[in-house]
Amino acid sequence: MSDDCIFCSIVDGEIPARTVHETGDVLAFLDANPLARGHTLVIPKPHAHRVGDLDAGLTDAVFDAVAALTPRVQDVVDADGANVGINDGAAAGQEVPHVHVHIVPRFEDDGGAPIHAVAGKRPDLSDDELDEIAAEIAD
Ligand code: 5GP
Ligand code: ZN
Repeated sequence: MSDDCIFCSIVDGEIPARTVHETGDVLAFLDANPLARGHTLVIPKPHAHRVGDLDAGLTDAVFDAVAALTPRVQDVVDADGANVGINDGAAAGQEVPHVHVHIVPRFEDDGGAPIHAVAGKRPDLSDDELDEIAAEIAD
């Protein structure tokens, strides 16, 4: 529990939410300001700010819930697809500092965009630069 974290307050029952799934480790509830019908948030119950702060057991639990809920949410709202994503850090648009996975149902001709649209100007990277980045990540 982190003081002043709105999602910790939801986990603790201090703030109401439309819960759709709950286990010992994970809570899923409807987004209060949905981007689409059925927009759902999946969170680990223990407070963690960033994806990299999650314990291994929790990443499994969160992704298991995401994998189970994504098709279910789509069925319920009769969606044609879904974008599943995390805003990791303020620079990426994270406003609530408690890791959460967005499940955003998508509909043919809903006027939205693929996840490729989230980034800014695309970099022009040479093969050498790509090799270097890949090698550093793989280290
Ligand atoms: P972020 O920008 O941090 O990835 O997204 C935070 C999400 O949490 C937003 O989509 C916002 O609508 C949702 N949200 C913020 N406060 C509340 C709340 O009190 N209850 C619920 N259910 N969703 C919230
Ligand atoms: Zn929290």
